[in-house]
Amino acid sequence: MASVELRGLTKRYGAVAAVDNVSLKIDHGQLVCLLGPSGCGKTTTLRLIAGFLEPSDGEIHVGDRVVSSKARTLPPEARKMSMIFQSYALWPHMTVADNVTYGLKLRKLDRDTTAKKLAAIMATTKLEALAERYPGELSGGQQQRVALARALIVEPETLLLDEPLSNLDANLREEMRFEIRRLHDEYRYTTVYVTHDQSEAMTTADLIAVMNGGRIDQLGTPEDIYDRPQSEFVARFIGAANIIKGRARDADHMDFAGATLRVSGATLAGGETVAIAIRQHDIELSAQAPPDAGNTIKATVTRQVFLGATRDYLVAAADGTSLRVVTAPTNLVAEGSEVWLTLPAERCRALAR
Ligand code: ADP
Ligand code: MG
Repeated sequence: MASVELRGLTKRYGAVAAVDNVSLKIDHGQLVCLLGPSGCGKTTTLRLIAGFLEPSDGEIHVGDRVVSSKARTLPPEARKMSMIFQSYALWPHMTVADNVTYGLKLRKLDRDTTAKKLAAIMATTKLEALAERYPGELSGGQQQRVALARALIVEPETLLLDEPLSNLDANLREEMRFEIRRLHDEYRYTTVYVTHDQSEAMTTADLIAVMNGGRIDQLGTPEDIYDRPQSEFVARFIGAANIIKGRARDADHMDFAGATLRVSGATLAGGETVAIAIRQHDIELSAQAPPDAGNTIKATVTRQVFLGATRDYLVAAADGTSLRVVTAPTNLVAEGSEVWLTLPAERCRALAR
């Protein structure tokens, strides 16, 4: 079984911890995304898992083997892992078929077995027609598929991908996300997928680990991360969220901008300054006071912009907090007008930190 477990994994460069005490368990056959902004430690974590780097602290377990620790680091070739680099790293002087079978040649597999495995993987990655081409004669998406085929043909226990779609244009990137998920559903390799793109993570992952400054801020399903962000960082990074800070009245009420907001299912610390997140499209904006004034605050329209499918507002609450609200395109209120914002209690998420 190729489960992968990181225990207190740390990599320091001088005084800086690129990876800071990361613990994460990836079950056999699971696809976990490491998601976060540039510089948060994703590539370093992946290189530690692959064995290209030695940890400063902590351990990596694969199944019941310890593959990395301060005492001993197993070399990459002894880990039954395949890594796909951001640049693909194909051999320019070899045909597609030779690139794909390179790993099998190193393992000295016989001709028949090699041919069989090649035919199978070329079919799944839709490369049959391109077998005799050279990488320079392929599009970005085709090169990407060659890199995938080359990684998969050796039947690794674990597949590691570092921003594999970042060199592709937007349309192809979208298509390849589904392709990667389809291949995963077919082969079920334990996979660690690094990306800074939240939609890519949402499409491909069973679980997403959101990284921030070398640490995992939150681990959860795409739904968890999107609907229940636990920190301000995750709420902001996953996007389209407003952060509202106020004073907690009791476990599920907080005072904000002259109103009291109910926060469903929260355990706020009464008397403390607390923060909640609410998505831009979860706030209702109205030019008239709503008949049921629950969870409603007054605000002033700073700016509004028509975007075709939506109309987006920037508004200022009484205490100066600015909020973004996404409404129906027909919902037009002039700049400078007073509006009422309703923040449904079940859409307000208390943030832990
Ligand atoms: P990401 O892949 O999330 O963009 P990296 O893992 O590449 O981030 O880098 C994390 C942090 O560690 C960055 O601040 C980076 O500058 C630093 N770092 C990475 N590799 C080295 C190195 N070899 N020497 C010094 N600092 C490094
Ligand atoms: Mg990186």
